Amino acid sequence: MLEVKDLVVAYGKVKAVKGISFSVEHNQVVSLLGTNGAGKTTTLRTISGLLRPESGEVWFEGQRIDKMPAHKIVQLGLAHSPEGRRIFPKLTVEDNLMLGAFARKDHQAIAGDLERVFALFDILKERRSQPAGTFSGGEQQMLAIGRAMMSRPRLLMLDEPSMGLSPLMMQRIMSTISELQSEGVTILLVEQNAAAALELSDHAYVLEVGSITLEGSGKQLLGDDRVKKAYLGED
Ligand code: ATP
Repeated sequence: MLEVKDLVVAYGKVKAVKGISFSVEHNQVVSLLGTNGAGKTTTLRTISGLLRPESGEVWFEGQRIDKMPAHKIVQLGLAHSPEGRRIFPKLTVEDNLMLGAFARKDHQAIAGDLERVFALFDILKERRSQPAGTFSGGEQQMLAIGRAMMSRPRLLMLDEPSMGLSPLMMQRIMSTISELQSEGVTILLVEQNAAAALELSDHAYVLEVGSITLEGSGKQLLGDDRVKKAYLGED
């Protein structure tokens, strides 16, 4: 469904991603793991058209997308819930969510999806008319995930969805990912909590200073000594 080939992304002279190749099969949950600065966010931003690669290719469902504008990529069914607080602070919660559906014309289904996001994150429903800028970091994170869900993506990329959330909310996010997968959505996940991510992942890649150094099924990597040591805090 998604294929990244020999991708190189640089900020000026500094190469943040140094020629990585990986793929995501239809209806899988795939994780990208790696320490801070490994290039995970850069990779997701390049796939969603926010950054241009220096070289390499990105293919989504048979189309080459690495030169496409970001809004076209969303229209193809690839959504991105970015790391941190990339919401529109002056707009209300509901308007932020509706922006996720900008490319859709199926109004009834949009209303249903809005209710679904509200059922998942009740705080968003309670405060739907408030400006989103008044939200805490964790609440803004929920809003960013909800907004990505509103585009009804076939492939949803989540950049550290549990960041700033309580353990309870984190569990909820993880079970939402499984639920979305059972509905046919494909997920590409970047997550600090490697154990939780690997539990749900069909496949995972480990990124270290811009290169993929390890890959395998979630189960394989959970049992891998290098992963245990570096990412799971085990000896
Ligand atoms: P984290 O888990 O900390 O978010 P990451 O794996 O997502 O890390 P990136 O944010 O992709 O890593 O960063 C990869 C490298 O690129 C880092 O060395 C970072 O300092 C550098 N970098 C990221 N954004 C920029 C930028 N806008 N300008 C210059 N360098 C950048």
